[in-house]
Amino acid sequence: MKRIRSQCLFKEAQRLLPGGVNSPVRGFTSVGGTPPFIESARGAYIRDIDGNKYIDYVGSWGPMILGHAHPEIIRAIRESGKRGTSFGAPTTLEVALAKRIIKLYPSIKMVRMVNSGTEAVMSAVRAARAWTGRSMIVKFDGCYHGHADHLLVRAGSGAITLGIPDSKGVPRSFTSATLVARYNDLSSLKKKLLTGKGKMIAAVVVEPVAGNMGVVLPRDGFLEGLRELTLKNDIALIFDEVITGFRLGLGGAQGLYGIRPDMTCLGKILGGGLPVGAYGGKKEIMKMIAPLGPVYQAGTLSGNPLTMSAGLATIDLLTDLLYKKLDSSTEALCNGIKEAARKHAVPITINRAGSMFTIFFGGHTVYDLNTARMCNTNRYSRFFHLLLNQGIYPPSSQFEAWFLSAAHKEKEIEKTISCCWRAFGSL
Ligand code: PMP
Repeated sequence: MKRIRSQCLFKEAQRLLPGGVNSPVRGFTSVGGTPPFIESARGAYIRDIDGNKYIDYVGSWGPMILGHAHPEIIRAIRESGKRGTSFGAPTTLEVALAKRIIKLYPSIKMVRMVNSGTEAVMSAVRAARAWTGRSMIVKFDGCYHGHADHLLVRAGSGAITLGIPDSKGVPRSFTSATLVARYNDLSSLKKKLLTGKGKMIAAVVVEPVAGNMGVVLPRDGFLEGLRELTLKNDIALIFDEVITGFRLGLGGAQGLYGIRPDMTCLGKILGGGLPVGAYGGKKEIMKMIAPLGPVYQAGTLSGNPLTMSAGLATIDLLTDLLYKKLDSSTEALCNGIKEAARKHAVPITINRAGSMFTIFFGGHTVYDLNTARMCNTNRYSRFFHLLLNQGIYPPSSQFEAWFLSAAHKEKEIEKTISCCWRAFGSL
């Protein structure tokens, strides 16, 4: 497969943009090689500027649950655009989307739209600090909550891929109020609560199903334990559902596991492929947000009409039946991949939650960052390129999730399995 135009453009892009990209993992740093520059996408496929076509398992890192360029969403964006692209004033669209969110997420009584997942979590933490009058927060090793200074501590995603556990440019004082516990290990949180710091903790923030150290599922009792411990200690529990919201079901991970956090952060699917974030939760916390309360948070383009239209069109197309189909097509794909790996004696572990999964290269169970890190990333990189060259586009890091969309049908699943078969054979 030739990618000459992408190679030339990547060279030029590297002179103009840091690493040639606008978000680190796009630069193929961990797998090496040249990222294809994408010209267009439709359904389950993306096409690069050299005319190569790939079955896409990145889905813009989560948002594209209905596949690319879904006609209803494109129509909604086009119609909305005709009426103007930004007003900086209230619209009916924001109210309509807020209503949908509040109906689907019973823990959310009031919501604020923002422009990214980063903004959503940063703002939710600020609100939780104001509500509790405390300053410290607890996050978990390997969970990524966007790139706000105080959350860039032992983060997953690009931060593990690039081996930068903590970013330069973040003063130590900014992260001194951030404590880190181990994912799936309640005792590590309990220890923090027992120290004098317990009464200073405002919030525990967690990805209820982690997607940023690869997919890692919560063990039985982990989320329930978090709810219990935070309630007992008057700490706000924040679910970062930027990935899992509308991905694991209409009601996200909290709907699936039956847990009500105090605050929830959303993003990705909520914007139907346009930039978005949202945070919401208990009324008494959300009432603290300006202009109602003393917590300042604002945004020139927040609640943007194009985004709201795309989000509404997306949510209105998501049904329980669609999630059932997504679950069974992803299960079929994962079973096929496991069988192919077994036949070629390549030890892998697949962690899957609905339509998101990760193939970990290593036969051990992966339940936290340490076990994720034990994987053979060189092998993943080789596997990645063997697939890419056959027209399959997986995430360019061992520590990211593969996402299926409703446009991935039997034909795409079968082709992907046979490409994996050949890739495992060549490893
Ligand atoms: N939280 C989680 C769980 C995420 O996966 C991400 C991004 N992948 C973010 C927050 C940050 O979202 P954004 O990239 O939109 O700022």
